Amino acid sequence: MAVATAAYPQMTDEQRAITEMVRQFVDNEILPVAEEFDHEDKFPEAIVEQMKELGLFGVTIPEEYGGMGLDLTTYAMIVEELSRGWISISGVVNTHFIGSYLLIKFGTDEQRDHFLPRMATGEIRAAFSLSEPEVGSDVQGIKSTAKRADDGAWELNGQKMWVTNGLGSGVVFVLMKSDPKADPPYRGMTCFITEKEPWVEKNEGDYAGLEIPPKIKKMGYKGVESTELVYDGYRCPPDRILGAEEAGLGQGFKQMMDALEVGRVNVAARGVGIAQRALELALRYAQERKAFGKPIAEHQAIQFKLADMATKVEAARLMTMKAARMKDAGQRSDLEAGMAKLLASETGKEVVEECFRIHGGYGYSKEYEIERLYRDAPLLLIGEGTSEIQRMVIGKKVLQRNRI
Ligand SMILES: Cc1cc2nc3c(=O)[nH]c(=O)nc-3n(C[C@H](O)[C@H](O)[C@H](O)COP(=O)(O)OP(=O)(O)OC[C@H]3O[C@@H](n4cnc5c(N)ncnc54)[C@H](O)[C@@H]3O)c2cc1C
Repeated sequence: MAVATAAYPQMTDEQRAITEMVRQFVDNEILPVAEEFDHEDKFPEAIVEQMKELGLFGVTIPEEYGGMGLDLTTYAMIVEELSRGWISISGVVNTHFIGSYLLIKFGTDEQRDHFLPRMATGEIRAAFSLSEPEVGSDVQGIKSTAKRADDGAWELNGQKMWVTNGLGSGVVFVLMKSDPKADPPYRGMTCFITEKEPWVEKNEGDYAGLEIPPKIKKMGYKGVESTELVYDGYRCPPDRILGAEEAGLGQGFKQMMDALEVGRVNVAARGVGIAQRALELALRYAQERKAFGKPIAEHQAIQFKLADMATKVEAARLMTMKAARMKDAGQRSDLEAGMAKLLASETGKEVVEECFRIHGGYGYSKEYEIERLYRDAPLLLIGEGTSEIQRMVIGKKVLQRNRI
């Protein structure tokens, strides 16, 4: 059962058409098979192929490179729809979207020409790698290094952790310490564009020195792989520094933090999508299930739950749209992106939990979709910066803007 939700205010005809198209795709192609792929932890190859045909890997890539050239707001609307189906599907496009954002904003013409046309079609997918086994939130604490060799190439060494699309990607935007003595450390960090063979565990030839260990076993967010990456003498030509050496050396931290701002809008949209789906499931179940002689939806305690859930979903959606629209308007939106990410990811978790409670014992059964949502939702509290980190960003910003 699809719950008719009011359209976004100020949605353009193009946005309405594309979100309706994606919703249909989700209803017909994703929702009927998501449980099966989740239970088998299987990569949804056929769905990804259809997404390529629909152009969903090139939503924000400019038309001159073969993409749709749409803005972050429209992208966020699409991500909400995809996540309503299965957040793992949005995981397949998320790091890809961040990689294309980095190229569009900071790449050289040659880098854009080389990667964007194939990224727009989905021929190659991008991964984004900051985290390491000992470092997640404290990005300046990374240990992986890049050292210039005598022939001018950069030699990359170190272990990366939790890389979404780590195995299937053809290119990884990876943060390395290029100047370990830099103080503060962020000034000595560089983003390298490392190419690799998709789906190959041990790269050879031009890409030798990059190995991908077996995928990490996870609670949820199945289907899309999360892996470590082991760089061991991987050689990266200087023209594969994001923005090239003159503009990119030592700029990696800033570039990647900028990308996280749009990444946070993306995670917020995923929170809205999963919460929306949980609300739909709860509305249906509450009207079907009877207790004490009437549908549980007629018990006021359940109605109050539904009221809170619907209200939270709407608030999270509006906050997410605000952050996206500000970014599209060229305004600084780190505060709003942080707020949207915090509100929407917590909303995702809360609404999913309420839907689980409404399902009673059946919520605990793998026969019901809510069981998958219950395992998927917590990821959003962690990825792209935990709720604690969002609060740090928000707290700092509100104080900065309200100094007395
Ligand atoms: C499924 C999955 C996919 C992921 N995909 C990617 C990816 O594609 N690329 C990538 O680079 N990373 C990825 N990550 C990593 C993710 O970004 C990190 O897990 C996240 O940033 C948190 O880092 P951590 O796990 O090291 O936790 P830690 O940084 O060790 O934090 C542990 C706890 O301490 C809290 N904490 C830390 N510092 C502070 C502080 N100063 N004040 C208060 N509390 C604090 C945190 O909020 C958290 O509760 C993924 C993670 C998961 C689970």
